[in-house]
Amino acid sequence: MAATMVQHVTESIFPSSAASRSSQDGPAKPVDLSKHLHLGMFEIGRPLGKGKFGRVYLVKHRPSGYICALKVLNKIEICHDGAEVHVRREIEVHSNLKHPGIISFYGWFHDRRRIFLLIEYASGGELYKTLRKEGRFSERRAAKYAAQVAESLRYLHSKNVMHRDLKPENILIGLHGEMKLADFGYSVHAPSNRRETLCGTLDYLPPEMLRPGRPQYNKAVDQWTLGVLTYEFLTGEAPFEDSPMMTKRRIAKDFVHSLLTLDPAKRIPFDKALSHPWILKYCERS
Ligand code: ATP
Ligand code: MG
Repeated sequence: MAATMVQHVTESIFPSSAASRSSQDGPAKPVDLSKHLHLGMFEIGRPLGKGKFGRVYLVKHRPSGYICALKVLNKIEICHDGAEVHVRREIEVHSNLKHPGIISFYGWFHDRRRIFLLIEYASGGELYKTLRKEGRFSERRAAKYAAQVAESLRYLHSKNVMHRDLKPENILIGLHGEMKLADFGYSVHAPSNRRETLCGTLDYLPPEMLRPGRPQYNKAVDQWTLGVLTYEFLTGEAPFEDSPMMTKRRIAKDFVHSLLTLDPAKRIPFDKALSHPWILKYCERS
């Protein structure tokens, strides 16, 4: 099944191999993958979104009439970015997951220029758009969404997978309004539960991943991002914009804190206050 299929994800899908390869394996239902997958099998519909290396389209699998999403990735752009390993991981990790809170992975194939990932279609679109449109969610709704995401993450962690790129853009909404985790480009299967790469989206990066030197972190990075996400559900804003140290708000806060210090000896002197980044940012000084 899917596990056999992912063994085919090797270097050779990236160089200019003329041969188009597809897989005979993969989940049999609801899309019948007993035949080799190829582009001609699909009726291409409207674009659903744009990713880093291509677009995602609504498609109909002609033999079964099943509606799915097809993520099309451009090989040259992937290689240009040196992101082969991410794509390979995305396929390897995603194809081994099966959970109602995670977009199902049906199969993949490729031609000379592109890699195609066939995945479950989420008719509710991005959670990000809903959140932006509605501003914020009620506590009841935020709690429901947070619980659904927590369940999916618990499942991922039980499979020794960290998502590492959780954000409202990567959470889709299913037919019944349920949360569906998507985009496993940064996810990783790490049985040792220890990683040293820096990745993910800055707003959501936990402090342990920003530590200078070689940051060491584990699956608990996904707990942090669930905290950030829940804050965003409730307020409509990320708690730490840009990077934890650099937000305007935090810089302003730092200025105030450095003056409102209980110990008089530790209050910043005025020359330091006048060269504080928050003052420098807003006040032109001769
Ligand atoms: P990035 O790295 O920029 O996040 P990506 O290449 O990993 O992008 P995805 O995040 O997987 O791509 O998909 C891009 C967009 O396409 C999503 O944000 C979403 O709007 C849409 N999309 C992706 N998959 C689906 C799906 N299964 N159903 C509906 N829409 C989808
Ligand atoms: Mg994405």
